[in-house]
Parts: sequence; C-alpha cells; structure tokens
Amino acid sequence: MIDTHTHLNDPKFEQDLDEVIQRAKSSGVDRMIVCGYDIPSSRAAVEIARKHEGVFATVGVHPHEAATFSADTLRMLRELAQEPRVVAVGETGLDFYYSFSPWPQQEKAFAHQIELALELDLPIVVHSRLAGRAVLEIIDRYQPTPTGVFHCFSESKEIAQTVTAKGFFIGIDGPITFKPKKQGTSTSSGRCELQEIVRIVPLTNIVVETDCPYLTPVPYRGRRNEPAYLVYIVEELARTLGRTIEEIDRITSENAERLFPRMIEPPG
Ligand SMILES: [Zn+2]
Ligand SMILES: [Zn+2]
Repeated sequence: MIDTHTHLNDPKFEQDLDEVIQRAKSSGVDRMIVCGYDIPSSRAAVEIARKHEGVFATVGVHPHEAATFSADTLRMLRELAQEPRVVAVGETGLDFYYSFSPWPQQEKAFAHQIELALELDLPIVVHSRLAGRAVLEIIDRYQPTPTGVFHCFSESKEIAQTVTAKGFFIGIDGPITFKPKKQGTSTSSGRCELQEIVRIVPLTNIVVETDCPYLTPVPYRGRRNEPAYLVYIVEELARTLGRTIEEIDRITSENAERLFPRMIEPPG
C-alpha cells in the first residue's frame, strides 16, 4: 500500500518516528509521502525522506499559512522542490472553512504554487475545503492543466466528477470509515456522501491516504493517526466497491505511481 498523504513531519511524531515508519512497513505500507505545509515542515519532509527508504516528500505552503507567503517563500520552495525525493508541490489550495488566512492571500499563494509546479513539471497536492468552485476557477486559468490530487476529498459529488474528468485524482481518508451521526443523515464531508462519491468516480482516479496525525480511521478514532492504519481505509473502500482488498491495493498503488511519477527508489 502507498500512503499518499502523511504529516510525519508533525511534532506529534518527533519522539517515535522510526517506530511509526517501521510499523507502517510491517502493516504493508511500503511507501509513504510526507507533505509540507510551510517552509520548515517542507524542509523536514525532505529530511525525513532522505533518511528513510520508501519515504518521499512534497514541499508547499498550506492555505492556513498563506498570509506568510512572500517572494522569499517562493524562492525557498523552488530550491526545496529540486531536492531528491520530492514528488510534488503542496499541500496548497484554498480553505474557506477555517479561513485562517484572508481569501485573496490564499488565492495568490495557490496560484504561485501552481505556476511553480508547472515550471518544474511536478503534480500539485491540493487542499480544498468548502472551496471547490474557487479552486477550479484558479486551476482553469492554466494551460496545460496541472496534474495532481484533491487530497482528503470533502467536496461535493459534482466537484468530484468535474475534477476527475480533468484528470485529477481524489484522496480518500479515515472519514470513509466514520459512522453516520444519525441514522439516514449525512454531512457534506461525511461517510455516506464519500461512499457515494467513490462509487461514481472512476476507480483509476482514487488514491488512499491517512493525513496522519489527523483523521484517524475507525477502530482507532480518537488516537493519533499513523500510516499503519491505512489498511482500515483500504478495507472500507474495498467493502464499499465490492472489490477485494488486494484489488483495491493494487489499483490505488498504480494510481499513486501515475500521480507521482518521481516516486521511484533509485536502483541500489
Ligand atoms: Zn489538507
Ligand atoms: Zn495534509
């Protein structure tokens, strides 16, 4: 299995990172991607990837941190993006749910990172929360269309269909395992809607991720999340789609390799 979105660079993993990576590998997660969310965490992602076989990095500035984005940030990202084992630019995008940074600054930081990805021929890792239309409006300004993933997908069915039709992947996380709040009810990012979404988009556009330390899947909900728990997401996806776990593992792993062409171990 490939965990396509982790934050092993989060301080919550400082004490036991080696054990966490070892547990992931023992559970069948042989590759994982550590995503940057600002400059220090992007640098940490590159460092972790350098030290561990099967671990890769992305470098980017999260919409929460967009208010700090400057010409200097862009220069540092461009440098970091050329380090070995960097497979994408991100996470970047728009978050209109929390709006920790003003919208115009989020949009500016996102546009700069799309341009950087196109310049370096890298995919983008998109964080989009209650912002699907605005994210698409920005992406549509660019020709050729960038490649990438809408990680931790929480937007509507319509957005899921639109982005996968453009060739984007969607990342499925722990919420697919969450029980509905009340019988027959669902929220926009809830399990019912997600289960419908994975049934209507092509399976060739789906990747799996933990987004650890956040969004821990059932049965470990409430604890710190880690890549070893990816199996619960793969299992739920298999159950939802009426496929075997092996099939889902094989297909989503092939998808991840197409999404991140640089995710290859150098020989020797
Ligand atoms: Zn995110
Ligand atoms: Zn993330």
